[in-house]
Amino acid sequence: TYVIAEPCVDVLDRACVEECPVDCIYEGERMLYIQPDECVDCGACEPVCPVEAIFYEDDVPAAWADYTRANVDFFDDL
Ligand code: SF4
Repeated sequence: TYVIAEPCVDVLDRACVEECPVDCIYEGERMLYIQPDECVDCGACEPVCPVEAIFYEDDVPAAWADYTRANVDFFDDL
């Protein structure tokens, strides 16, 4: 799955939402989140993010590793 990290916080540009073919990017209060079970790993969202907030799960920078968990937790809490 792809993961949205810190640069999205308070930006929520939503260009990725337009791009996602399976509509698996959801809006939280301060950032967008990718539903990990729905994401088909197409990568279409990643290049359109103006703040480069989107990473393949294995490529999330260490400093933002918590965001991988936060993406999952967001949907567990719904
Ligand atoms: Fe949607 Fe593809 Fe991005 Fe996954 S990788 S969130 S399916 S656009």
